[in-house]
Amino acid sequence: MKIILLGAPGSGKGTLAKKISKEYNIPQISTGDMFRTCVKEESELGKKVKSIMESGALVPDEVTIEIVKDRLSKVDCKNGFILDGFPRTISQGEALENISQIDKVILVELDNDIIIDRLSSRRTCPNCGEIYSLSELENEVCKKCNSNLIQRDDDKPETIKHRLEVYEKSTAPLINFYSDKLVKVSSSGTPEETFEQVKAFLN
Ligand code: ADP
Ligand code: ZN
Repeated sequence: MKIILLGAPGSGKGTLAKKISKEYNIPQISTGDMFRTCVKEESELGKKVKSIMESGALVPDEVTIEIVKDRLSKVDCKNGFILDGFPRTISQGEALENISQIDKVILVELDNDIIIDRLSSRRTCPNCGEIYSLSELENEVCKKCNSNLIQRDDDKPETIKHRLEVYEKSTAPLINFYSDKLVKVSSSGTPEETFEQVKAFLN
């Protein structure tokens, strides 16, 4: 099964992608995670995208399409994958048509005021990528690997607003682009409740 997750930053795509990946045994391809790894490793690409990501802007299409094309050619993607954070522009969506045939597109919906709350209280593990909300933590340490959690630079309030604008302008047009394979789920409840809606649709 080849799935795309669409949705604003902070709508819960990453959490949902992890659940889908586990349940259906397909890899989660998160362009955001891939870029963050490049930044951490200080690779050539990492140096190029660091300041772009910190500002909340999008990495150029050519660069993004290239890394996705490369990743999807790997053997573990043969039977399916879940794209989390790609495509994010119409040109990326058009490029993807020439790379792979997508089966389903899931739009994760959430009101902007809840998004802003959730992003501001999000903490991530720089080591294993696990995502937490401040409210579920007693101390800011990863429950899986014990690393100290961090707040992503782009989860700071000034940048959140910019990311939401970028989403509206560049990514939301993909909702129409995929109208024939799109299903909407609401992520205003718990992660499990959101996942139940997805399962009902995919099974
Ligand atoms: P979120 O969905 O929470 O905004 P991501 O982890 O998906 O966060 O992305 C973080 C940043 O990585 C984006 O703000 C952007 O700079 C870059 N990025 C990720 N995916 C793409 C993409 N498909 N196209 C361009 N830039 C991307
Ligand atoms: Zn961890």
